[in-house]
Amino acid sequence: MSDSYESTRLAMVEQQIRERGVHDERVLEVMRRLPRHEFIPEAQREQAYADSPLPIGEDQTISQPYIVAVMTAALHLTGKERVLEIGTGSGYQTAILAQLAAQVYSLERHAPLAESAAAVLERLEIENVELHVGDGSQGLPDMAPFDAILVTAAAPSIPGTLRSQMSPDGGRLIIPVGDAKNQYLERVIRRGGKWDLQRIGAVRFVPLIGAYGFKAADV
Ligand code: SAH
Repeated sequence: MSDSYESTRLAMVEQQIRERGVHDERVLEVMRRLPRHEFIPEAQREQAYADSPLPIGEDQTISQPYIVAVMTAALHLTGKERVLEIGTGSGYQTAILAQLAAQVYSLERHAPLAESAAAVLERLEIENVELHVGDGSQGLPDMAPFDAILVTAAAPSIPGTLRSQMSPDGGRLIIPVGDAKNQYLERVIRRGGKWDLQRIGAVRFVPLIGAYGFKAADV
């Protein structure tokens, strides 16, 4: 998509993402095309391509572009997957997933964020996304199993509900796990009754608030 931010966006992908070691061409190409500024509130728009998270309202943030790229690449999407995202927020990560997988289900607990994400996705004509308002720590059992699950808020531990909703045939889950301030990004791969866990790196996410996350009063 050609727009007034295009050269800034290409520089973002080159300098913040590719040069830092994310080389998955499918992920890079989607991030070169997708207008990140459309997902950012007016007041912050000039910062849309900065190397940092940004406020999106309701005390929440859109993730730093590099982190979005790392998490997306770690899912190894081929285009055929059914994906569950928890923490729609601005909808930016949702839009990226939608262009790399077959169908995306995304859950957000703040209805106003889900509504504005839905409006941007519609404007960009991204149609393979189903948005739900609710507690994503419980997953979406009616739609399970998922080939990939991406959690974009920090959990105190990996919710068993999400483990059980992973496809037993190589399903993967990416989730930040730790306390409310500091976490490690973890990747889990399920094969049958076995869940293999790997740590990707240190991260900082807003907390996952819900039945299998943090309690609102504790953060
Ligand atoms: N992927 C988003 C990141 C948003 S920040 C983006 O790029 O814009 C994390 C989001 O998780 C916030 O919008 C927050 O409201 C949401 N969240 C926190 N706990 C949740 C829960 N239990 N269920 C669904 N969404 C949750």
